[in-house]
Amino acid sequence: MISFDVGGTLVDHNFTELVWNNGIPKLYAEKTGINLEDARVRIAAEYEAVGREDLRWYTLQYWFDLFDLDGSPREMFELFRSEIRIYPEVPSVLEILERQYDLTVISGHPKDMMLFEIAKLQHHFKYFFSSVTDFNKVRKTSDMYAQICVSLGIEPRQVLHIGDDKDNDFKAPREAGMQAVYLDRSGRGREDLTLTNLEELLELLSLMRDP
Ligand SMILES: [Mg+2]
Repeated sequence: MISFDVGGTLVDHNFTELVWNNGIPKLYAEKTGINLEDARVRIAAEYEAVGREDLRWYTLQYWFDLFDLDGSPREMFELFRSEIRIYPEVPSVLEILERQYDLTVISGHPKDMMLFEIAKLQHHFKYFFSSVTDFNKVRKTSDMYAQICVSLGIEPRQVLHIGDDKDNDFKAPREAGMQAVYLDRSGRGREDLTLTNLEELLELLSLMRDP
């Protein structure tokens, strides 16, 4: 089995940044009558006050309720649908990999957002996990990875995870006994087990099969 992170791995951060830094401030500006720039500053301070260590930070509905915004997260996703940017090599790489492996998604994004982001890729995957929605965790921990393996009835060492966050996508899955590779799309990191795109994953897997 191969599992993938989503943001920065399958799709870039354009969509999520637009939702948080454009969509929410715009609705807030409409609601309160203040201008968009002031709304941005105000909202950024509110995000900061809750902070990334708090599950509410990740929950779009929480912010809709808090600011009493019109509409719904789903409507906001639709607004920015055309802004979802899948990395160019991803569809063809998934098509090749799915012939030989079960593919899974393990993301730190809330599930509704994550499923929306990968809607065009969804048919390649068998399972979908969100640390926030399925495990009430603000980060992907080794415990969470271990639990996922148990729930799928698979040995950790039979799973290879790939993602662009050193702690969440590389250290944590390895601590759980899984295999992992780190994706650094900037191409700056040149340590072992660091790839710069998913095309290179195909090469790595063929090397692992026929060393
Ligand atoms: Mg990521």
